[in-house]
Amino acid sequence: MLEELRLVPHWVLRSPGGGDHDRGTMPAAVPGVQPAAAPSDASAMSREARIAGMDWAQLKAAVRECTACRLHSGRTQTVFGVGDETADWLFIGEGPGAEEDARGEPFVGQAGRLLDNMLAAIGLKRGQDVYIANIVKCRPPGNRVPEPSEAGACDAFLRRQIALMRPRLLIALGKTAASNLLSSDASIGSLRGRLHECGGLPLIVTYHPAYLLRNLIDKAKAWEDLCFARETMERLKAQAPAQP
Ligand code: SF4
Repeated sequence: MLEELRLVPHWVLRSPGGGDHDRGTMPAAVPGVQPAAAPSDASAMSREARIAGMDWAQLKAAVRECTACRLHSGRTQTVFGVGDETADWLFIGEGPGAEEDARGEPFVGQAGRLLDNMLAAIGLKRGQDVYIANIVKCRPPGNRVPEPSEAGACDAFLRRQIALMRPRLLIALGKTAASNLLSSDASIGSLRGRLHECGGLPLIVTYHPAYLLRNLIDKAKAWEDLCFARETMERLKAQAPAQP
């Protein structure tokens, strides 16, 4: 759309010696309209393009080395995600906590045990047709909610994981995951109980296990969400059986 409107700057590869002359290729600014790609945006775009072309091994290495947001400074290690890389089910939480940061695996503390129980309740098991990831791969200090800039910096990694995995169904665990995946500020209460769409894939919202540990009353609602997810998966599989 921006190209159609001619709002995209025309970028030209710098001559080997560099120099200022190539800066003249940018069009004059359109009043009231931000250029589509300032130089820093352009480097962000090229980072995203690079990530979008990675295989699993390259992606894991890139995450391990990543310093794209300030969360890198407080981590013990990155927490890439865990499970079956060809899974139909992708569960997405918020970010690593202290135990996850120490062990390098998502959902390994008390909340992780509850998640495992939730999986078992619908006949699933961590690592078997199930993958678990987070919105951010590094632990936010004090287990705070990731800032939008941090979630934005990490987004390309998660999107590449999804593209490589091609799961049938995404489950957003908690508000941070739902907000980022759906670009919505709505409450969990208003988002759960129906099917959403994220990047062409169906998505269901439910509570984060850590929240459920503090709010036992909502476990019944989480159970409803899991039943809805299981029914949805059955329907998706009936519509498009797995290729032999
Ligand atoms: Fe990089 Fe994501 Fe860690 Fe930020 S949270 S440093 S974007 S891996």
